[in-house]
Amino acid sequence: MRIVLLGAPGSGKGTQAQRLVARFGVPQISTGDLLRSAVARGTELGLKAKAAMDAGALVSDDIVIGIIRERLGQMDVAAGYILDGFPRNLAQARSLASMLAVIGQPLDAVVLFNVDYAEIARRISGRRTCPNCGAIFNVHDAATPGITHCTNCAAAPSLTQRPDDNEHTVARRLAVYDEQTRPLIEHYRAQGLLRSVDAQGAVDKVTARLVAVLAPPAPAAKRRSKPKPKPKSKKKSKAKRVRKPVRKAARKAVRKSARKVARKVARKAVRKALRKKPRKKLRRSPRKRARRQAPGPRL
Ligand SMILES: [Zn+2]
Repeated sequence: MRIVLLGAPGSGKGTQAQRLVARFGVPQISTGDLLRSAVARGTELGLKAKAAMDAGALVSDDIVIGIIRERLGQMDVAAGYILDGFPRNLAQARSLASMLAVIGQPLDAVVLFNVDYAEIARRISGRRTCPNCGAIFNVHDAATPGITHCTNCAAAPSLTQRPDDNEHTVARRLAVYDEQTRPLIEHYRAQGLLRSVDAQGAVDKVTARLVAVLAPPAPAAKRRSKPKPKPKSKKKSKAKRVRKPVRKAARKAVRKSARKVARKVARKAVRKALRKKPRKKLRRSPRKRARRQAPGPRL
């Protein structure tokens, strides 16, 4: 499964991506994580990204695409991946498409997360991340109200808030999303790849909706499941070949016995007829007998 999660910042893509990773066993590819990792490792692209971020500029498409290209070249993406936060604009979407076209592995689906902006503002301000395992929690989530420490890690480290996860920056981030990322909805809808989910409400319910839109056979999934019946039909034809003479013999036997029965019935009828004749003779009226015995032609 090669899918893209599309949605405004704070629409829950990251949280749901983690759920899908656990469910489908394919890696989540998050541009943010990749950039942070590249910066930490000091790779060439990482250094370029760091220079841009230090200058307060957005990391250029070239750098982001380069990092994604590197990531998609790794072994663990053979069975698929979940792209979260990429592509972020039409230029990135086109680069991704040509990258995937080269290796002959196009996207299976793009899932749009529908959430209204008031809910997004509330979610973003409540978002907390575990610095150790990267798990995302929310202080506004009914399941984890006011959470302060990671429940996944044994050491229970304190959760942190990303510097740009506050209400002041939300409006600006949503404006950027509207301008740059929103056009991707129509872009992918036109290609027949878009599915959308209501991403509001409990996390579990959103996961269920997400799994439901991914479950119905996508055109690509259908094609993949179609070859399955083929070996079956092969087996069938083999079985046919084996069974055919048996069936033929059975049909022959039936025909033979039918003929036998028919002959028997016929013989019986003949015998009956033969038996009847003398009786008929006996039943003949004396006048008829007299006529029969009378010489000369009767007219
Ligand atoms: Zn943790």
